[in-house]
Amino acid sequence: MKMKAPMIGICRHRLTTDGQGVTTLVAFHGCPLRCKYCLNAQCLRSDGVWRQMEVQEILDEVMVDDLYFKATNGGVTFGGGEPLLRANEIADFCKRRPSTWRIYIETSLNVERQALEAVAPYIDHYYIDVKDMNPDIYQHYTSINNTRVIENLRWLADHVDLGKVTIRLPHIPNYNTQADIGRSRQQLEAMGFCDFDCFEYVCYGGKSA
Ligand code: SF4
Repeated sequence: MKMKAPMIGICRHRLTTDGQGVTTLVAFHGCPLRCKYCLNAQCLRSDGVWRQMEVQEILDEVMVDDLYFKATNGGVTFGGGEPLLRANEIADFCKRRPSTWRIYIETSLNVERQALEAVAPYIDHYYIDVKDMNPDIYQHYTSINNTRVIENLRWLADHVDLGKVTIRLPHIPNYNTQADIGRSRQQLEAMGFCDFDCFEYVCYGGKSA
C-alpha cells in the first residue's frame, strides 16, 4: 500500500519568501516541538490535518506551476510543522520532480540524523529555525532539548556547502535577549555558518506573529 502523508496545506505563487523565484510551499502536519508561540498550531492538533496525500498526488498538484518554476528559477519549499518527519516522502518527490525545480526546506533540525541524510542530496537551500543555541532557553521555549539540533548542525557543517544554509535566530519575548542571540550567532559562526536571519517575534496576547 502507498503511504499517505498528513498535510496542512499547499500554498502556491509565493515570491522570494524562502527561496528564489516563484515557489510553492508544501506543508506537512506534525512537529516534535511545542513552541510557546507556535504560529502553526494546526500542525500540532490531531484534527488539524487538511488532507492525506501520496507523493504522486502532491507532485501532480504542484506540477500546475511548472512553467512559473522554470521561468523564475523557482521550485518547492517543504515546511510544516516539521517536514523532516516526512523525509522519505520528500526524497521520493525529489527523485520524481523535473530536475529544473529548486528544492528548499524550512526545518528545526530536531530530528533523527537519517532523516537529514535522506534529503540532503536534493536540497538547494536550508532555512534552519535554530531558535536559540542555549539548551536551557531552547528547552524552556520548545519543551524539548536541542541535542539533536546541535548534532545535525555539526553534520551539515561537515557535509554541506554552508552557502546553502540560512540560520534563523529570533528574538523571542520573555525567553531570550539580544545578548543571547549574539551568543548563539558566535557559536554558529565558529561552526562555519555565515548567513543569519535575526528577527523579532511580535506577540499579541501570548501569540506571536
Ligand atoms: S517548530 Fe514551528 S510548527 Fe513546530 S511547534 Fe515550533 S513554531 Fe510550531
